[in-house]
Amino acid sequence: MVNNGGLIISLDFELGWGLHDLNRNGSYDPNLYEVHNVVPRLLKLFSKYEIHVTWATVGMLCAASKSELRDYLPNLKPSYKNKVFSSYEIIDEITEADQRYFGSKLVELVKKAPNQELGTHTFSHFYCVEEGQNEKQFSADLKCAKKIANHPLKSIVFPRNQINKTYLKLCENEGIRSYRGNPKHRLFKTEQFSDGWNYKRICKIADSYINLTGHHTFSLDSIEKNNIWNIQASAFFRPYYSRLSFLENWKYKRIVKSLKYAAKNKEFYHLWWHPHNFGRNLDENFSTLEKILKEFKEIRQKYDFHSYSMNEVVELLEGLE
Ligand SMILES: [Zn+2]
Repeated sequence: MVNNGGLIISLDFELGWGLHDLNRNGSYDPNLYEVHNVVPRLLKLFSKYEIHVTWATVGMLCAASKSELRDYLPNLKPSYKNKVFSSYEIIDEITEADQRYFGSKLVELVKKAPNQELGTHTFSHFYCVEEGQNEKQFSADLKCAKKIANHPLKSIVFPRNQINKTYLKLCENEGIRSYRGNPKHRLFKTEQFSDGWNYKRICKIADSYINLTGHHTFSLDSIEKNNIWNIQASAFFRPYYSRLSFLENWKYKRIVKSLKYAAKNKEFYHLWWHPHNFGRNLDENFSTLEKILKEFKEIRQKYDFHSYSMNEVVELLEGLE
């Protein structure tokens, strides 16, 4: 079977659970509150352009309140050496229906929307290569993610893109069929988290505007299976920065060039970001995204290129097996 490739989009839907350790002073709170407007607006745009998306969702945010969340907590919690990574540490500090952390209504919107896949970003935003946690704790975490989602979860995005290959078997045991791997370049290798500015971070930012590391597109027959399929990422859709606004068009062009490269070569291009990235400068972020989707619409017609969620790519792969 010939496959023409396509655009895959995955979103790391996490609200405050993805960055509670970095947002101690609350400076990112406006972005988090705004996610309640960003998600419906994204769904509307995806529907308009018939875009299929995987929403890799943190289990904890599926709760409507703190008391509901408490009903789902695992007995076995991650014993990170550095406790600041643990989302369980902040539960006491947040309010009963803290909108920075709870998004049950948004999850229901995603579930009802056409062509949207609910995936998992683990229950607790679990860090798979940080010191102190273990396999049993990870399995317990995934079981809670399934329970609270009340929905089959077939795709996973590992928090902070920390891929621990020995955990892929555990994902398979829970019915997960694919994960988002990192682009194949040394800049994107799995590593423990370190905050602050460094050479790699600067290169990654530069790579969003100019092609430093390649297109990271891939053909259907190059997709590897290690217990579950590796639907690797191609690029992070970086939010609009007012200080770099003069480069916004470069970012757009960098993405569109990769999309065209994928379509011409019958390959896949996998773009990802977090809804909270759009939580500031909403109009600018949505405007760039819509420009990309307009371009995609033309490419789709010209090259018979398609839009896929992660699990739809797995369905293609398993159809071939
Ligand atoms: Zn995350």
